[in-house]
Amino acid sequence: CYTYLAENIKKHVSIPIFSSNRINTPELAEQVLMAGKADAICIGRGLIADPYLPMKARKGDLRDIMNCIACNQGCFDNVFRMMPVTCLRNARAGNEARTELKPLKEKKKVMVIGSGPGGLEAARVAAIRGHEVHIFEKEDKIGGLLNIIWVPPGRNEFKRMIENYTYWIQKHGIRMHLQQEVSIEKVKEFNPDVVFIATGSKPTRPPIKGIDRKNIYWANDVFSGDAPVGKNNVIIGGGATGIELAIFLAKYGTLSRESFDFLTFYKALETDIALEMLHEGRNQVTVLEMLPKLGSALGKTTKWVLLDKCDALGVKLITGANIQEIGDDYVNYLDAADKEQVINNIDYVQSD
Ligand code: SF4
Repeated sequence: CYTYLAENIKKHVSIPIFSSNRINTPELAEQVLMAGKADAICIGRGLIADPYLPMKARKGDLRDIMNCIACNQGCFDNVFRMMPVTCLRNARAGNEARTELKPLKEKKKVMVIGSGPGGLEAARVAAIRGHEVHIFEKEDKIGGLLNIIWVPPGRNEFKRMIENYTYWIQKHGIRMHLQQEVSIEKVKEFNPDVVFIATGSKPTRPPIKGIDRKNIYWANDVFSGDAPVGKNNVIIGGGATGIELAIFLAKYGTLSRESFDFLTFYKALETDIALEMLHEGRNQVTVLEMLPKLGSALGKTTKWVLLDKCDALGVKLITGANIQEIGDDYVNYLDAADKEQVINNIDYVQSD
């Protein structure tokens, strides 16, 4: 997104100008170069996620590139914590010498149960090593939580993971068994040499009075569109998911980027008004977090951005909240000073 800087600098100097930041695919790099906006491209995180990116680009095997998804979780966030760089996508990053894929001694029949990110990666590596790999998935498509993790604002790049694995399943000859729920009997009948259990996790149900009410939904149900969005929402838990959910709910129904472009291009709406509509928070959201700090699992590079967004959208963030009861249209909690507080007129409660 900073290519405009390179382009402007290039107009005033006669030395080669490099452009950087989120130029994470060869196609995008090519576009910048072809448009004459820069003389060369710097790629940082893209090479942590896939050090073979340039070789794959040269071969024209673009779909084989393990794309960086801009999460910052293993790279920038670790650097700021003075820890070694790792990568959410590339398990070998920072451990290359110890994790070299060794030649196969004996080919095995591998059964992977679950096709979320863990199962897909286990299957990919086993198949590259030459094993016979089968993935069993109870749904009719691969991905598990990957199918919704890209829904919160700013997470769009996670979608690439499904595209990558769809390609690798075909490239490495991994056999898919969709809509197959696995039981002990099924494992015995299939008779694999190795089983990977990668069935993912389920959110815990906090022991709060009223937690089983009908107006309570899980974050994943909201992201997948299976739960309604209210005008007045309370989120239990201000961890990473709770904060992302707060932004999603507050912004739900705001002007889309496409509508903004259309309305401002044709001057159907003043740019200032359209901008306000693009960034406004439409729904009331209150986040109740038990701990004294929000977003405890969020890294430094993303935490301030997300909390800033919450602030701009008018999301109320309350820490030290000890929830006592959830009612039909209220939530009752003890605040950090142990005083009883009530949030009234709520439509829905969401739990992260
Ligand atoms: S940790 Fe995330 S942002 Fe960093 S290189 Fe890996 S995929 Fe990219």
